Amino acid sequence: MEGIPMNPDLSRRHFLAVAPAAGAALAPGKPALLGGAKVRAEAFPAWPIFDQREEQALLAVLRSGRWYRGSGSHVKNFEAAYSTLTGAKQCLATANGTSALLISLNVLDVQAGDEVLIPPYTFTATVNVVLRQHALPVFVDTDPRTFQMDATKVEPLITGNTRVLMPVHLGGNVCDLDALLAIARRRKIPLIEDACQAHLAEWKGRKVGTYGDTGCFSFQASKNLNSGEGGAILFNDEDLRERAYAFHNNGSGLRAIGANFAYASSGANLRLTEFQAAILLAQMTRLDQQIRTRTENAKYLTALLKESPGLEPAAMYPGCTNNAYHLFMARYDPQAFAGLPRDKFLKALSAEGIPCSGGYSPLNTQPFIRNTIYSRGYKRCFSEKRLQQWEVQNRCPANDKLCTEAVWFTQNMLIGPRSDMDQIAEAVRKIRTHAADLVRA
Ligand SMILES: *Cc1c(COP(=O)(O)O)cnc(C)c1O
Repeated sequence: MEGIPMNPDLSRRHFLAVAPAAGAALAPGKPALLGGAKVRAEAFPAWPIFDQREEQALLAVLRSGRWYRGSGSHVKNFEAAYSTLTGAKQCLATANGTSALLISLNVLDVQAGDEVLIPPYTFTATVNVVLRQHALPVFVDTDPRTFQMDATKVEPLITGNTRVLMPVHLGGNVCDLDALLAIARRRKIPLIEDACQAHLAEWKGRKVGTYGDTGCFSFQASKNLNSGEGGAILFNDEDLRERAYAFHNNGSGLRAIGANFAYASSGANLRLTEFQAAILLAQMTRLDQQIRTRTENAKYLTALLKESPGLEPAAMYPGCTNNAYHLFMARYDPQAFAGLPRDKFLKALSAEGIPCSGGYSPLNTQPFIRNTIYSRGYKRCFSEKRLQQWEVQNRCPANDKLCTEAVWFTQNMLIGPRSDMDQIAEAVRKIRTHAADLVRA
């Protein structure tokens, strides 16, 4: 079935017509958490996936003795290949996704005392890079239907010091780019796309990461394109790419500016190695197929889960023409499960052999953020009045609620056969059927 576009009607009929997946027949039995048999005994596909392609690529770099981008060609080749794949004009490979964001903030001139708008439903790196600049992270509440930054809540938070709008394409789903880009243009604020979880996701047929002033990607081990660690930035502007190149290369740009050891800017060493680029080029040979399989499986799982209430998959904005499904995210409603609390549902589902998690805690209320913005350095950058106002603004009730409802499945669970989706749905059904027993247990 891989590679065949899915017709939701057909797949539903297929689902109803065929025998239940292995293990599904056990559904009427006791929940595994209460001592019954598991719906699924075998592990989901392991991640990463690799073979001789990676081995040979790594050995070639090793034997060449050209291990860094200054002496080899793999990093350069990867940048060209990733630009082509995404349709971006320019690409810069970086040490990781965090440094891609950090470089972006620097070349867009985010300084101490500036403000950056970010979502609270994201990985901590999104806020960490803002704090490294001594800028103020201003959190925009989440649209719980999509798990993305709520574009309707951005404008009231913009001040004269707002320097960058930095939405995230969370989970491989796409934020409301049209609305956010319109605000960025109207208010003349640069936009950074944190696309660290959204490799090859699309908005209106064009790859994400190519819409903003920069688009940042991570190739950390858990991500859909993986070299252990690694990152990249996409640009449409050659000059911005040149400044980013210089920043990531200790301030030394490609354009000659005079004598040796003369520098275009301050910077850091945030370069990708030749080894990582070689792995990425090998991993990219599988990317298309993996994306197609994830999308087909995710669509099928969405249709299965929507047959009953209680586990509502994240919606997509109409402009999202491809969801990269780094995560399969859904909202849990205990009402549909006899009042079974979310955390107990997660335990019961894990016990059935379906790994799952409750996802992020609210980032905006993590104590480390307050501790940082009340530190000595920050007090020199922001008035007491601004910090007090930040406290009042820093409420994201929709996000707080979402963090209590979320259920995540990771991307590797979507790259196996379709019958894996049948088992996920079967385990959910089994828990729903026995929810009252689980509540009492
Ligand atoms: C993974 C991730 C990052 C950071 O990437 P690293 O490569 O781990 O530094 C940033 N933002 C988001 C949303 C991420 O998921």
